[in-house]
Amino acid sequence: MSKPIVKLLGIPNDENSSFLKGAAEGPPLIRQALHSPSSNLSAEAGLDLGDEPRLKDAGDLPVGVSFKDIEAAVTEILERGERVLSLGGDHAVAYPILRAYGKQYQRLNLLQLDAHPDLYDELDGNRLSHACPFARIMEAGLVGRLVQIGIRTLNPHQRRQARRFGVEIQEMKDWPPDTLPVFDGPLYLSLDLDVLDPAFAPGVSHHEPGGLSVREVITLIQELNAPLVGADLVEYNPSRDLNGVTGRVAAKLLKEIAARMLGES
Ligand code: MN
Ligand code: MN
Repeated sequence: MSKPIVKLLGIPNDENSSFLKGAAEGPPLIRQALHSPSSNLSAEAGLDLGDEPRLKDAGDLPVGVSFKDIEAAVTEILERGERVLSLGGDHAVAYPILRAYGKQYQRLNLLQLDAHPDLYDELDGNRLSHACPFARIMEAGLVGRLVQIGIRTLNPHQRRQARRFGVEIQEMKDWPPDTLPVFDGPLYLSLDLDVLDPAFAPGVSHHEPGGLSVREVITLIQELNAPLVGADLVEYNPSRDLNGVTGRVAAKLLKEIAARMLGES
């Protein structure tokens, strides 16, 4: 099989954020951090993304793009046999992205890094809230397996939802785990930046203390033991950032994720 092509795709939609808007402003600022002369484009294992023709930028979808158009844009890329690494917006965009992936991949594995399980049946009357996408994904049977890491906000409703859908949760209270999950096929990574402790990444809408370090998340990405066929990097909210530090964190994680997506056939 030929080496995969990875498309960067900005998805500036924060219309389903429950607490604060701002994540729609994220994608261009993550790109700006990525290309800033303050660093370079090499991933830690050595791949220079600035010299890698298989990493292509598909630009940003329009601000406030509809779920239907998100699904169509991702489907178009997947039908060409390419992989999608999407930037920003709030976490609600994971649902239309996974609708596209679910059509192309049988029994996809989904790994979610997040402070929150995002398994609400509805929040404030909105079933498409950024607090709900993984309930919608599991109801629709879009993936074979959902594993969550970094969770530290489970309430009784979401514990019931997790049991109902068979979600495997690695809670922060049990960190570090004895073993990390082993995946038996293609893997999609959904990375909510609030999985990080707010000390490392203040530029998110929901500051949830007690999270992972940047190093721990990088190590998780580098040690994923399955072919990474897609990923999203969501919930960067520049209006909450301090000196652009969270934008730099997002760009760093983007480099490590892209290197993994490019490195496997
Ligand atoms: Mn989330
Ligand atoms: Mn979250």
